[in-house]
Amino acid sequence: RNQTLWQLRERYVPRGVAQAHPVFVARAEGSRIWDVDGKEYLDFAGGIGVMNVGHGHPRVLQAVRAQLERFTHVCFQVTPYEAYVRLAERLAKLAPGDFGKKTLFLTTGAEAVENAVKIARAYTGRPAVVALTHSFHGRTLLGMSLTGKASYYKQNFGPFAPEVYHAPAPYSYRGMSDEMALEGLRELFRTAVDPERVAALVVEPVLGEGGFIPLSETYLREIREITASQGILLIADEIQSGFGRTGKMWAVEHSGVVPDLITFAKSVAAGLPLSGVVGRAEVMDAPKPGGLGGTYAGNPLACAAGLAVLDIFEEEGLLERARALGRVLWQALGRLKDRFPQVGEVRGLGPMVALELVRDPETREPAPDLAQATLEEARRRGLILLKAGMYGNVVRVLVPLVATEAEVHEGLARLSAALEVA
Ligand code: PLP
Repeated sequence: RNQTLWQLRERYVPRGVAQAHPVFVARAEGSRIWDVDGKEYLDFAGGIGVMNVGHGHPRVLQAVRAQLERFTHVCFQVTPYEAYVRLAERLAKLAPGDFGKKTLFLTTGAEAVENAVKIARAYTGRPAVVALTHSFHGRTLLGMSLTGKASYYKQNFGPFAPEVYHAPAPYSYRGMSDEMALEGLRELFRTAVDPERVAALVVEPVLGEGGFIPLSETYLREIREITASQGILLIADEIQSGFGRTGKMWAVEHSGVVPDLITFAKSVAAGLPLSGVVGRAEVMDAPKPGGLGGTYAGNPLACAAGLAVLDIFEEEGLLERARALGRVLWQALGRLKDRFPQVGEVRGLGPMVALELVRDPETREPAPDLAQATLEEARRRGLILLKAGMYGNVVRVLVPLVATEAEVHEGLARLSAALEVA
């Protein structure tokens, strides 16, 4: 069956849609998925960091079913509904910052980033936006333009949106210290764009697709100061790092830095398409009525799932569990680094963690082929993983936050066996 479906895919799906694993999924539950041939896998990819509460959580299923029976769609802009405003309130209260906040819902992560920039431009009346090298912000025109990770995300898709600038991402492992990166930002303001023309600086607190590179507290504090002093808004793109992935609801909470706006998506609604922007009420209110939204934006099923996700965080103490999981993972992956010379670095923040694979520990030359071989070998052994990184040599280990201890150890054993062979 897998093979037949694969042939259909080859024939009818454009090759621009990447495919990490030739595994057609039949069913998923908790931390596991089963393919159409009946093979079982531990899912440490979570549909690209979406399944923090695991697959098919009974609370999510119940909430979505109940909403489905009431109504599926009416469009919030036409006739509003309760799930949207309830979730907007809860997220506004959860977002950092001791000030009034509002929440806008959209459908995809890229849209959330686009809208955060629209809001920042409307509020500041300034055109320019700065993002970081190594960053990923989505596949739409502006998302792609902001994305600093120049790869197939951007190849042959230009011209890109104007007034987008890139500052270096701090990445000391490859020789770009916080100080150098900050100097790069200042240099950008001196030579490429007047800071008085900049509406926003957009950063991922942990660069996700760029290879699980956490921004340090020092760097975040400095950019908060620089942006505040220049009237520039700070937008934290927490699409991958949010919803407990780093052991806090938002990754910025590790540093105490308060952004003006936060973008979120992925794990907010356990797999239903939902994204959004949450932040300072006066900033969120800058666009005129009608400027924000979308036909499906904040779909009722997705908002119902979002409310269930927040209940799960509270009822199951998921943030504490996430922090405990982070400790287990860092210890176990540290042991893998000691054991396997091809593991150059264990990197990330809390349970948002990855292994960087290198040719040899001295030169630290990236080894994307080893990362690919590890992914394939892990799959053969029943473990689904994903790559990331500028060089495609980073293996993400995105364990569902609800995974049992036995599942975590089983997954790590499969990973270890895969490293042994690959
Ligand atoms: N921003 C970040 C940090 C992401 O990780 C992603 C997706 O991986 C996006 C934006 C784009 O989200 P989407 O694929 O839902 O458009």
